Amino acid sequence: MIKPLIAGNWKMYKTPSEAELFALELKKIPQQNDRDVLVCVPFPALVGVSRILKDSGIFVGAQNVYPAKEGAFTGEVSPLMIKDAGASFVICGHSERRQIFEETDQFISEKVKIVVDCGMTPILCVGETLQQNEEGKTFSVVESQLKIGLQHISSSLINNVVIAYEPVWAIGTGKNASPQQAQQVHLFIKRVLEKIYGGSSTMVRVLYGGSVKPENIDELMSQPDINGVLVGGASLKIESFSRIVSFKKN
Ligand code: PEP
Repeated sequence: MIKPLIAGNWKMYKTPSEAELFALELKKIPQQNDRDVLVCVPFPALVGVSRILKDSGIFVGAQNVYPAKEGAFTGEVSPLMIKDAGASFVICGHSERRQIFEETDQFISEKVKIVVDCGMTPILCVGETLQQNEEGKTFSVVESQLKIGLQHISSSLINNVVIAYEPVWAIGTGKNASPQQAQQVHLFIKRVLEKIYGGSSTMVRVLYGGSVKPENIDELMSQPDINGVLVGGASLKIESFSRIVSFKKN
């Protein structure tokens, strides 16, 4: 049985003080043992939010990392710094980083590797653009992103990785993939993982991301191969995030 993961991605929202106030609200959400909850916060908020959520059962993560333990990389943040600040997860290869900052699959694969090497869990984001979707390339794009993104991860480590399927056309647009469309791609992702890793990948969590909201969470989570969600906009308000965290399968 795979334990679902409900992850919030705050993107570049909330100052450290706002983030800490929000973390105090998060702590009040009744925790359920059958699911994990995570918030991926901006770097400056990591220490404060981690202190508040320590012992709450809610995990804290970062939204990016530079793939080196230390060095002359002005302005970058290393995995060791992130871990020491209290993070146990790191989002790698979010589509905003692929598109705005031109991150390649190769570069993302180095991030995935170093995050695992440092004892944290990478959330590797994959997903096709609108154009790729319309050209019928969803499966080939996702397969290639997975193969390259995971190229440094061996069978013995694959269960330390989370995959997030986030169709780019559904992120922040209000348009979500239908639960059935998402389920089809999730099943495909599981087959690709099985092709690469055989039986070792059966416990890998595959999350869906893209305009997840209180109105669609229950149906998404009722799909057999959707093992959680990565939530942007709706994770910024306590009312919507607490409803998403309290999902019920239909
Ligand atoms: C995201 O930031 O990963 C995301 C899926 O955003 P939204 O939920 O706002 O579409």
